[in-house]
Amino acid sequence: MRYLIMSDIHGNLQAFEAVLSATPDFDQVWCLGDVVGYGPDPHECIARLRGLPAITVAGNHDWAVAGKLDLHEFNADAQEAVLWTREQVTRADVEFLKSLPERETSGDFTLVHGSPRHPVWEYILNASVARSNFERFDTRFCLVGHTHVPVLYALHTGDERSRVQTGRPAPGSVLELRDAPRMIINPGGVGQPRDAIPSAAYALYDSEAQTISFLRQEYDIEETQRRMTAAGLPPRLIARLTFGW
Ligand code: ZN
Repeated sequence: MRYLIMSDIHGNLQAFEAVLSATPDFDQVWCLGDVVGYGPDPHECIARLRGLPAITVAGNHDWAVAGKLDLHEFNADAQEAVLWTREQVTRADVEFLKSLPERETSGDFTLVHGSPRHPVWEYILNASVARSNFERFDTRFCLVGHTHVPVLYALHTGDERSRVQTGRPAPGSVLELRDAPRMIINPGGVGQPRDAIPSAAYALYDSEAQTISFLRQEYDIEETQRRMTAAGLPPRLIARLTFGW
């Protein structure tokens, strides 16, 4: 089976469609949350996702749009985008976002948005935060999003104390899972990458080959930006797509 691992689509339909067309040969989507927020097509992204065979977990933006999280935790631009998004989605979309679980498991993988410790909110930004999260899931691997940066943390257990090694998977690189240590893996962000590469970031898990490929896909950034401008979304959110920050 081939699993398309996507996180942080953020209402960016151009990026979402580009990834789906680039990798049509998949069996299931694993979506790590933040389907909406920031981007100009939240309803269309929800509808597209719901039409796919998919497992989806909740992101902070999803629950904020659904009214399940306090907006005070968001910065001004993100708040404005959440409020705008609430006007664009249908009642059925809100019910869908509200119903998303914090955590799912499938085979060797736990799926969360932020971290297994605090699934909706915590950012795993370094090895020490990753390390304390390894005891919060039981599967071999945990997939996370939320930071919009592709990264992996591998747990090496020695005689004395365990050590977490950080890896920065290059675009196109393939991770071998056979004999691999336990890992927390982030595919990066589809709709708003933040690793200084503007193309959509995602990953593909092949359960037979036991590999995860880290992939990038170019998309029509200018079209997304035109749609954001027409919607009156914050200029900083529009500009950052050009640069991937
Ligand atoms: Zn996000």
